[in-house]
Amino acid sequence: MTTQSLSGRSPQEHYETLYSALLEADMYNIAQADKEALLLPLFKLLHDWHLTRSVHYHRLFGHTESPEEALAELPYLAVRLFKQLALKSISEDQLFRVLQSSGTTAQVPARVFLDKDTSARQSKALVRIMQHFIGKQRLPMLIIDSPAVMDKSEFSARAAGIQGMAFFGRKPVYALNNDMSLNEEAICAFAKQHNNTPVLLFGFTFMVWLHFVKALQRRNLKIALPKGVLVHSGGWKKLSEQQVDNSTFKQTLKSLCGLSHIYNFYGMAEQVGSVFVECEAGHLHAPLLADIVIRDPISLAPLPIGKVGLIQVLSVIPTSYPGHSILTEDKGQVLGVDDCSCGRKGQYFAVLGRLPKTEIRGCSDTGDKA
Ligand SMILES: [Zn+2]
Repeated sequence: MTTQSLSGRSPQEHYETLYSALLEADMYNIAQADKEALLLPLFKLLHDWHLTRSVHYHRLFGHTESPEEALAELPYLAVRLFKQLALKSISEDQLFRVLQSSGTTAQVPARVFLDKDTSARQSKALVRIMQHFIGKQRLPMLIIDSPAVMDKSEFSARAAGIQGMAFFGRKPVYALNNDMSLNEEAICAFAKQHNNTPVLLFGFTFMVWLHFVKALQRRNLKIALPKGVLVHSGGWKKLSEQQVDNSTFKQTLKSLCGLSHIYNFYGMAEQVGSVFVECEAGHLHAPLLADIVIRDPISLAPLPIGKVGLIQVLSVIPTSYPGHSILTEDKGQVLGVDDCSCGRKGQYFAVLGRLPKTEIRGCSDTGDKA
């Protein structure tokens, strides 16, 4: 089953045309109904695309119709299938890179198979989305991680995140040594040089807290980066165990480093590029290239605004692997549509942690396998 457009273009050409138009549009200025109308044909193409190219996707969804009216009709893969199956829609010779998620050592890592096109699309999408928040200028950059993370032979999601964000920085300085201790000398030199100019700081949430904030506190050290912008990402799980929530995180960084511009984003290693960034009002926003559906953890039916359920993430980016629609194991709720006080359009939402392991067993591994 392939989608042949009326103009006779191949599905790939059709996809590229629609995708380019989206990438050029404003990421946050299109109302939800109009956005869905733009996204639906792209997801239909992606569904058919992966049906004809991924053995596993075809086995699971070969009898599922492509969505006709709503994004919520799109079938979804359970995120843990990326640990269990080699999910790819490309041949071996098209393979450019395999991204490994940084799971805990006890877990099998997820594998994401990228070709050059998907990889390039991921980078460009991240740039379009983050530029909206941090501007187009390349800023001196403090990476809150150790340089060793980039050396590993297997490309980790952490390394991919740093590489993606490095586009916004120049003259990168690593805040941590290879043993994850604070590189006090490097940080102090960075702060001294840039104490009155805009800089970018980037790190994964738990690294920023455990290896930067805590280390500064232990050493009774404060640095002044009043014009700095901190972008951070990654789960709150490790931090909520330490009773650290988003507002504590922000207040502590303000008092230690003078930082008042802090942007958290939610994203998956399985959908690099289409990230959900937190706005000034503290809400996560879906950019034009992505969206979410909240589903009941037991029935998997879509839930209305305000109801807490599992987060399904949709992204128009991946063509090299069937990762355009994934049911996560994260809990969340849609807070509103088109009416956030920050002025951005579309859905905005909150992530409310992980579903406990016991609850996950209740839901199907494969989504709405027909
Ligand atoms: Zn907002």
